[in-house]
Amino acid sequence: MKVHEYQAKEVLSRYGVAVQPGRVASTPDEAVEAARAMAAADGTEVFVIKAQIHAGGRGKGGGVKLARSIEEVREKADAILGMQLVTPQTGPEGQLVRKVLVAGDVYADGAKEYYLGVLLDRAKGMNVIMASTEGGMEIEEVAHDTPEKILKVWVDPAIGLRPYQVTGLVHDLGLTGEAAKKARQFVTALYKAYEESDASLLEINPLLVRPDGVVLAVDGKMNIDDNALYRHPDLAAMRDEHEEDPLEVEAGKSNLNYVKLDGNVGCMVNGAGLAMGTMDLIKLAGGEPANFLDVGGTASPETVEAGFRIILSDPNVKAILVNIFGGIVRCDRVAAGIVQAAGNIDLTVPLIVRLQGTNAEEGMTILRESGMPIESAIRLQEAADKVTAALAGGQ
Ligand code: GDP
Ligand code: MN
Repeated sequence: MKVHEYQAKEVLSRYGVAVQPGRVASTPDEAVEAARAMAAADGTEVFVIKAQIHAGGRGKGGGVKLARSIEEVREKADAILGMQLVTPQTGPEGQLVRKVLVAGDVYADGAKEYYLGVLLDRAKGMNVIMASTEGGMEIEEVAHDTPEKILKVWVDPAIGLRPYQVTGLVHDLGLTGEAAKKARQFVTALYKAYEESDASLLEINPLLVRPDGVVLAVDGKMNIDDNALYRHPDLAAMRDEHEEDPLEVEAGKSNLNYVKLDGNVGCMVNGAGLAMGTMDLIKLAGGEPANFLDVGGTASPETVEAGFRIILSDPNVKAILVNIFGGIVRCDRVAAGIVQAAGNIDLTVPLIVRLQGTNAEEGMTILRESGMPIESAIRLQEAADKVTAALAGGQ
């Protein structure tokens, strides 16, 4: 799960990570109020108005603007709120901006931007801290063009981050004196925040280092492991469904594991491995999967119906292939569920059902006797041929 920059900064502050001060606002009036409160609290005169969407590259898309007065705060907030912000990381349609972060400008002459991130290195089975003097730019570009400018420190999660690793990293970034001391505190606190929040990514780009030794997070990107959210209700509450694919949100509510893809054959399968195999099958048959959908172990009439609705709300779907292996779940029950669900919804595309395993024959009989336009198949090849025929018939 991703969170907004203002939320990531809130979490970081709790762990003692130094972040640029700021307040979130949903309207220009709120933005002005936030700026006034910041001016009163610490004399802030220059502000930065930052669009809050779950995508980076906002600066490039016009979603980060400097405001040199309260009037400008209103003006810039008014311009950014409600805009359909297009960045290199959004789709071409962009993302609607519903909130802005009103931050205090913390830049000063001689300030330098760094990159600092903690993420999971799956190949090594360790966390890795990445740092670079080339902050403010796309780190992927730095990694591609000048990989030697990215420093990496691997942290064994069973041992934890050791002080010598922090000292070495900060030294290798070329920091000295007060800035080095603040940077060491920053890295240590950042790693703790990453670990204790069950994050899979925590990225600060840019990390600002000023000549007076001040070290501050200007941006904050945080991804949290979905499987750990149950033990972080405060983080789970930060979910912003506006930023997620609406079909995926709806699928999640029915406990369906759905990922939208760009093809024309919808598929509903029990088990992630079989779902992958089914997607291969669809490709072999000359189709392209429209989605990945794992209905899990239960495949009750309710989940099947929810699955059909979600698949069918994708206008690209030209046929549906249901592939169920009856292990614990019995095929006759699944078949009854399919017939019930198909009767409740307006099935506008050919439906091919392959049942295999426990009570498969009984399941096929139920499908056949339902009188519904359902093609059934027992063997994989048979199912593939029927998908091909359905796609050809629809053209
Ligand atoms: P991103 O483009 O989505 O990664 O958003 P960032 O938060 O990284 O902001 C983009 C850029 O805006 C940064 O790289 C900075 O150059 C600039 N910026 C952000 N905050 C400030 C600020 O407080 N003062 C100034 N002068 N520039 C800022
Ligand atoms: Mn950034």
